[in-house]
Amino acid sequence: MWPEVLPTFALARPSTVDEAVDLLSDDHVPYCGGTELLLAMRAGLLRPEALVDLKRVDGLGGVATAEGRVTIGAVSTHAEIATDTTIRGSLPLVAEVERGVGNARVRAQGSIGGNLCFAEPKSDVTTVLVALGASVSLRSPTGEREVTVEDFLAGAYWTVREPDELLVGVHVPVHRDRRGVYLRYQTMERPTANVALLAEPAGQVRLVVGAVGEVPVARSYQDLDDVDADDVARSVDPIPDLTGSIEYKRHITAVYVRRAVDRLRAVLGTKTQP
Ligand SMILES: Cc1cc2nc3c(=O)[nH]c(=O)nc-3n(C[C@H](O)[C@H](O)[C@H](O)COP(=O)(O)OP(=O)(O)OC[C@H]3O[C@@H](n4cnc5c(N)ncnc54)[C@H](O)[C@@H]3O)c2cc1C
Repeated sequence: MWPEVLPTFALARPSTVDEAVDLLSDDHVPYCGGTELLLAMRAGLLRPEALVDLKRVDGLGGVATAEGRVTIGAVSTHAEIATDTTIRGSLPLVAEVERGVGNARVRAQGSIGGNLCFAEPKSDVTTVLVALGASVSLRSPTGEREVTVEDFLAGAYWTVREPDELLVGVHVPVHRDRRGVYLRYQTMERPTANVALLAEPAGQVRLVVGAVGEVPVARSYQDLDDVDADDVARSVDPIPDLTGSIEYKRHITAVYVRRAVDRLRAVLGTKTQP
């Protein structure tokens, strides 16, 4: 049974990234939109001494382009990313996925940094970011490191982030000739299964299946014809839950991989960017 009220906690409101990073520890945790963190605290699953509010920290928002990649600030909300003109122009698949996240409240409050750091397996954002070869920058008192999103996600609700590290930005490479599609199957408020499928101009294909297992699973192929949906379904490691059994989730995976292949064929045939 859930407690009626949040447990007591202190609230720190740093204004710079350095101040924020200096405050972080096991018991002093980052807080952005609170869409996951406050629910977990109310459920008694987390009981931090203090929340370090990121919303007033300079330099953690916005979208910038440099050296062939787009950098999205950690506190950018799903709604901001979905409507950003740079994202819509350079990364239309990201804009499309962000438009479909959760509901209007989650899109208005939830941040891309919070989505990645909470590492909820049923995420749309992580699937598309792994497919696009995105990485994150993590700042600590001793410096900054960059990790691919694929390596960042270590398991369900588990990342390689250290307690004193702040995710400051998400970097997404831009490949204008690449084409891609994203499909998701959903019966409750989060996806049961999702598939991102991207094709390079030379024909190579990258497939990522997310939400069914603990982390998104990526595969590469020389050609779209090489994608074997049944083989992909056998290779995923589904978590059985209220949205379906292991067998059901494998079945859904095969169906959605097949649909993604058909959709991508249509996109490549028409040469229109999704
Ligand atoms: C009803 C509902 C439906 C949803 N549906 C979807 C969906 O369809 N698809 C989907 O992809 N997602 C979905 N989500 C997840 C949603 O995207 C995330 O809840 C949101 O993005 C989390 O961001 P936040 O700013 O609220 O994080 P918070 O709740 O503030 O924080 C989450 C965690 O991340 C840590 N954290 C936050 N920011 C940072 C940072 N910059 N550096 C280090 N650690 C940080 C916090 O300490 C905490 O542990 C849904 C969530 C809800 C509640």
